[in-house]
Amino acid sequence: MALSDDYRPVDGATSVDGATPAGLPPDARRSSDNRSSDNREPVDLVVTAATVLTVDDVDTVLDDAAVAVRDGVITHVGQRSQVLAEVDAAERVDLPGHLLMPGLVNAHTHMAMTMFRGFTDDLDLHAFLGRIVPAEAAMLDASTVDIGTRAAAIESLCGGVTTALDMYFFPDAALAAAHAAGLRLLTGPVMTDDPGIRALGPDALVDDPDRWLAAHPRRAGWRPVIGPHAIYTVGRDGLAHAGELRATHDAVLHTHAAETVAEVQGSHDAHGMGPVEWLDHLGLLTPATVLAHGVHLTDHEIELLSDTGSSVAHCPASNLKLGCGVARVPDLLAAGVNVAIGTDGAATSNDLDMFMAIRLTALLHKGIGGDPTVVPAHRVLRMATIDGARALGMADQLGSLEVGKAADVVAIDLDRPHLQPVFDPMATVVYSAGRGDVTDVWVGGQRVVRDRQPTRLDAREVTAALAALEPRVSGTLDH
Ligand SMILES: [Zn+2]
Repeated sequence: MALSDDYRPVDGATSVDGATPAGLPPDARRSSDNRSSDNREPVDLVVTAATVLTVDDVDTVLDDAAVAVRDGVITHVGQRSQVLAEVDAAERVDLPGHLLMPGLVNAHTHMAMTMFRGFTDDLDLHAFLGRIVPAEAAMLDASTVDIGTRAAAIESLCGGVTTALDMYFFPDAALAAAHAAGLRLLTGPVMTDDPGIRALGPDALVDDPDRWLAAHPRRAGWRPVIGPHAIYTVGRDGLAHAGELRATHDAVLHTHAAETVAEVQGSHDAHGMGPVEWLDHLGLLTPATVLAHGVHLTDHEIELLSDTGSSVAHCPASNLKLGCGVARVPDLLAAGVNVAIGTDGAATSNDLDMFMAIRLTALLHKGIGGDPTVVPAHRVLRMATIDGARALGMADQLGSLEVGKAADVVAIDLDRPHLQPVFDPMATVVYSAGRGDVTDVWVGGQRVVRDRQPTRLDAREVTAALAALEPRVSGTLDH
């Protein structure tokens, strides 16, 4: 079923048919070499480009290549002439001078916090929370979360992000907004003991997370999320309950961990162990666990993450801006921990720019460690795509341009002075390209960005609605 027909907010992107994800055998790209033109395989879409970064297991790069799509799923990736000989496409898009790559996976964000962009700058985390939590209590409802998430979805898609792992209140409103834009948003009930947030009513935190998760089951292209905010905002019983809900509903468990020195100290004071050890103690570390930040980790905690198959969402922009420190990414990678990349919310990183996060990831650890060979470009690109998909437990469906996977495709215009010459296209994307170079984006085979403009929402209308929230947000400082 085409994504346009079945892109319900409940499901996120649902174009990948779980029963027959590819609709084709894996070797379909080679199965029709001798077909006549009458015998070509019907597909919905073929996109041709100068270069395709597949981000497959061996980082295959194809020149003069094409990607074909049927029912939202990639059916062919290969040389342009060969793919065109094999398919009969209902729509053909030629992007000469462009590079195609998998859609970026933003592994940690708070979408609707776009409404607080610039409201909390140059504050430490404690002061940040002191300002943001009352503002959230005053501002948030289904309507403002809708506006904030629509803006975030447009910003994300136009910046090459096709999948985002969200943690925010009013998840039904967020899902509907992301659906309207065409973004693959994984979200779900958030848990926090904060009284201001709890006072927002049953829809903010989801009255009955168990029922919500049951009503939004895992399926192809989507997975529900349970989001206990952090060990310092959710008590032992709440965390244990989150672990139970995660297991019952095969959800992603998404939480903040080891972000600041103060959090680590607080964990030792309260529990006699570090935050990651505490999460492990409660049985919350699993292959479906995504820990945002992971800045202050001991060797033992890195070992625990590796042993349990947990993922870390590295958020360098947010960590730098809040002065939290720099995560031990080279050590995490060396220990075999799956490291994805996130932007965090726009209140702490001021944008949802994954190209910025990619660049920082590639540069920061070289400078900190005095070793330019660590975290190389190809590794960073994997972190932002396939490893993000792996963090969500969806590496079989997302994160690379391979036959049988969802057609989440980003086109970058390489024909620009700041991107030429291209010796290694992966390095060009990491070290030279920015989100302004993204021209077209498909999610599940649907073109959600065309010539740098969102196709499903009116960017001007959404921008105006977001800007109009500013006086209300500012007004929260008076109370
Ligand atoms: Zn966060």
